[in-house]
Amino acid sequence: MRSKIVAGNWKMNKNLAQTETLLSELAAKLPDTDAEVMVAPAYVNLVGAVHSLEDSKIEVIAQNMHFAESGAYTGEISADMLLDIGIDTAIIGHSERRAYFGETDEVLAKKVVTALDKNIRVLFCFGEELEDRKSGNHFKVVESQLKNALFSLEASAWSKIVLAYEPVWAIGTGETASPEQAQEMHAFIRKTIGDAYNSAIANGISILYGGSVKPGNAKEIFSKPDVDGGLIGGASLVADDFVAIIKAI
Ligand code: 13P
Repeated sequence: MRSKIVAGNWKMNKNLAQTETLLSELAAKLPDTDAEVMVAPAYVNLVGAVHSLEDSKIEVIAQNMHFAESGAYTGEISADMLLDIGIDTAIIGHSERRAYFGETDEVLAKKVVTALDKNIRVLFCFGEELEDRKSGNHFKVVESQLKNALFSLEASAWSKIVLAYEPVWAIGTGETASPEQAQEMHAFIRKTIGDAYNSAIANGISILYGGSVKPGNAKEIFSKPDVDGGLIGGASLVADDFVAIIKAI
């Protein structure tokens, strides 16, 4: 059985005090669940977050990491730095990193290799833009994102990967992929992985949906057989909303 996961990507939101408040609200309100629950606060607040959630089942994860071991990369954070503060999962490939920070499939492939070398679990994000969907190229785009960044990996690496399909047109827009659109794409992703590797890997991998997931639509999206949870942006910044989404899984 693959894991169910609900992860909150806080992006560039919440200062130190606000981070601590939200974490303590989440820790207090966390419902009983079989799902893995993760939050990704901003870098400067990670150490405190790990400390605050020491006694909680909620896992603290990173929003990004660099591919180099160490060195002259001003402003960047390495895998070892994350491990050192007790973080062993990182989001890689978020569409905002691709769009605003020039992260190409090649860069992302390097980040994935470094993360896995360091035994860091990768929450790998990908998804098509609106024009890709309008022109009917969405399957092709998603397939090439997966292939370019992940399909050189050995089969054994896949146990440390979680996928998050996040159509760019649904992120922060209030426009969600319909549950049917999410299911259709998730089934395609699973089949693509099955064809490239094997059915055990395809059936074992958790594929999350991200893009305007809210308490009101989470249950229907999560009910789809190939949707194994969600990567939540805006709604993860409000404790009651995030808790309601966790309850929906
Ligand atoms: P929203 O839930 O705000 O649309 O963001 C989704 C996302 O980008 C999570 O990584």
